[in-house]
Amino acid sequence: MPFDTQNWFTEAIDETGTAFSLKLKTKLHEEQTPYQKIEIFDTQTFGKLMVIDGCTMVSSRDNFLYHEMMAHPALFTHPAPQRVLIIGGGDCGTLREVLKHPWVKQACQVDIDERVTRLSEKYFPELCESNQDPRAELHFSDGIKWLQETAPDSLDVIIVDSTDPVGPGEVLFSEEFYRHCRRALNHDGILVQQSESPLLHQDILLNMYQRMQAAGFSHQATLNFPQPIYPSGWWSATLAGNTKLQHFREQDVQQKTFDCQYYNADIHKGALAVPEFMKKTFTLSD
Ligand code: SAM
Repeated sequence: MPFDTQNWFTEAIDETGTAFSLKLKTKLHEEQTPYQKIEIFDTQTFGKLMVIDGCTMVSSRDNFLYHEMMAHPALFTHPAPQRVLIIGGGDCGTLREVLKHPWVKQACQVDIDERVTRLSEKYFPELCESNQDPRAELHFSDGIKWLQETAPDSLDVIIVDSTDPVGPGEVLFSEEFYRHCRRALNHDGILVQQSESPLLHQDILLNMYQRMQAAGFSHQATLNFPQPIYPSGWWSATLAGNTKLQHFREQDVQQKTFDCQYYNADIHKGALAVPEFMKKTFTLSD
């Protein structure tokens, strides 16, 4: 079957020798912001697709996997999360999941690029349905600058839902950034960050562990989950804190008052299982 490139979006990555394609209906929008190039497509089978600097960000069909796993494991690991900061997350899908937790009193989202949110409001309104929640605060600034000015011991959970460690997202994977996060979190506070593909990006994951430990986080644990539109389809989020991260409020998960499409207590436990290769290459401190 000849490959008709005209009607396909393809993210091809030289470094990993991999590519991912989605068959298109049409291209809906493109703009260059002061920070990045944003494209929006309508696809044959995955609904709408947002692409930033050529990298897939979010699709209507499979974003629930990522947004649920970026929010719920960390929130159910913390004993009583009330004050949550999201760095990045401009499509607002993670914010929507965070605000499903009735005990969260404040969810502050800081994305460097307001245009991501405005385009998400237009093309992914279902992800933005909680933006008017009185507990939600949307700010548009560089995440590392925001953390520098955040009061010490003032947060329970920080969620870093950023682009890859290139361009504006690069600073969010630095030891300096993790030090600011450690200072802003209270003692049992938890940091969770999208940590790329355990299959393709083991070097990035290893660097994250080392920099988080250097910044004062004594424990890390990586959650593995599927995310079809991201490179290799095997994605992860890494938890960091100063308490054991394998234990979570399982009974609260069983009795949660909101619906998920993917996350539950068994998924939480399974996602924390450590692949054999990671046992060999990571000093796992949990
Ligand atoms: N799920 C996606 C992934 O894993 O690649 C991330 C989605 S979200 C759209 C990524 C967001 O990070 C973008 O909206 C981008 O503007 C934001 N971002 C990148 N660098 C940032 C920084 N230094 N401070 C705050 N937000 C940043």
